[in-house]
Amino acid sequence: MQATVSPDSEESPLKKRLISNSYIKLMQKRHFLICDVVPLIGCMIAIALLWHESLTLIDSIVFLGMCFLTSTGITVGYHRLFTHRSFNAHPVIRQLLVILGSMSAQGPVLSWVANHRHHHRFSDQSEDTHSPHTAPNKLLGLWQSHLFWKWEYEYPNPVYYAPELLRDQTILKVSRWYYGWIVLGLVFPAIVTGIVTQSWMGVWHGFWLGGVIRLYFAQHTTWCINSVCHLWGQRPFQTSDRSVNNIWLALPTAGESWHNNHHAFQNSAKFGLYWWQIDLGYWVIRLLEMTGLAWDVTVPTEAMIQAKKI
Ligand SMILES: [Zn+2]
Ligand SMILES: [Zn+2]
Repeated sequence: MQATVSPDSEESPLKKRLISNSYIKLMQKRHFLICDVVPLIGCMIAIALLWHESLTLIDSIVFLGMCFLTSTGITVGYHRLFTHRSFNAHPVIRQLLVILGSMSAQGPVLSWVANHRHHHRFSDQSEDTHSPHTAPNKLLGLWQSHLFWKWEYEYPNPVYYAPELLRDQTILKVSRWYYGWIVLGLVFPAIVTGIVTQSWMGVWHGFWLGGVIRLYFAQHTTWCINSVCHLWGQRPFQTSDRSVNNIWLALPTAGESWHNNHHAFQNSAKFGLYWWQIDLGYWVIRLLEMTGLAWDVTVPTEAMIQAKKI
């Protein structure tokens, strides 16, 4: 008779830190093609189509507004709330942040959280799935950590890395519509621009600028955190990895690029630790806190900051 292994046993495959099988590899490649390659092609088509057209103030507002909303979904929702639990929020805000994060097409929240917790645990070591320092040279490392790691990698097991999220039925239900939210992220700016301008041209511009180009731009600014923010910048804090702060990416990433600060104080909701370190994500959390929609916001004390300074 064959011995059975309980799902709660340490020997259970469910408890494995990394999992890899042909189905997961197929899903990773499918996601890479749909969510990473298609936006690149779409962005090139959009630029070609809009090249000779004059863009309006409404177009710029819709583009920047959608960048801000979907970046908020990633940095405030996926990263600071669900991965690091650096604050707590009203259930409606939690669901809204999953929807906005999903619109960035960076993976469902469960995978994103598991991947990112794995990154913190093995930052810049051989097991890190997206470190620029594990490749034979810097150029390959940049390419691998920025984008290509997503083609195929050992999958950080959500049972191991994100068990509390697996128990959150509401979040899982919202996240099940992941591809639907991506489509909504393309259609919504088209509808808004169409209504505001009362024209089909508005719908056309809204779709390409607020949808397709925004998706491509917001994805690559986030991925710069994995590549650029482990390569070029300042290291004010002593950490066991090679994370850096990069001032140029602070605005487009809504504060994510204060990445050395973040690795030093992983549970902090505040990434920009000084007044001049612009951190739009933290401003959103403060606004939610002031309106009673967020609470238990964790930030490091001045003594903690001074103690870790190089
Ligand atoms: Zn990092
Ligand atoms: Zn993190």
